[in-house]
Amino acid sequence: MKKPKVITIDGPAASGKTTVARLLAKTLGYSLLESGAFYRLVTCLLLKHNFYEDFISKKLDPKDTLEKIFSSVTVKLTPEATQIFYEGKEINHELREIQVEERVSVVAAIPEVREFITGFLRRLVDHRLVVAEGRDMGSVVFKEAELKVFLTADEQVRAERRYKEKVEKEVLHYGTVIDNLKKRDQLDSTRKVAPLTIPEEALVLDTSNLSPEEVLQKILSHLENLEKA
Ligand code: C5P
Repeated sequence: MKKPKVITIDGPAASGKTTVARLLAKTLGYSLLESGAFYRLVTCLLLKHNFYEDFISKKLDPKDTLEKIFSSVTVKLTPEATQIFYEGKEINHELREIQVEERVSVVAAIPEVREFITGFLRRLVDHRLVVAEGRDMGSVVFKEAELKVFLTADEQVRAERRYKEKVEKEVLHYGTVIDNLKKRDQLDSTRKVAPLTIPEEALVLDTSNLSPEEVLQKILSHLENLEKA
């Protein structure tokens, strides 16, 4: 097998996807596509424009609204990050705010939103070499990817990881973090369109007791074996 064009890494919240995807992208010189950022972006922009309630209750036309709010969006992909600019200003930090995180899985379950983001991501990747991380990268968006990885980890381990990451930036209760994680996993795994699922032929790794470097090494040796085959 020759060098893969797209490598997908899927898994539940705080399973280590972004950290591992970044390490892998940097090692291979690929771009990092953080697909969750785009569902967060839709949520953030709906709130910013005061469209959220009307969008959820279907009072607004989904396609028109999405096209309108995305008309001022630009994206830069590097091995380090997926940088998103709105009206020329980088807004990645806003995408991680709690009001976005509490609503993102509701927005991501709407079929028209998924269709819009799926098309957007495919056009964005075009002929680039990418490591794409998310929930449906290997199962739906980049079904043809030559290497698919699925990361899991115990719920407790994931909650602790997410909490540690969050308290460095803001004051938050552990209970709020674990509640949000559970709710998002529940919604993401049970939605009708593109639920979180293990893609066929994926390399499945439980990261509960592994460091990001150890996960990286396992993926690289799997890739080496695939390339030899
Ligand atoms: O990965 P991240 O935590 O940024 O994802 C935020 C949310 O975006 C997820 O909880 C999920 O609802 C949604 N998402 C999705 N499909 C993806 C990536 C993220 O539905 N491929």
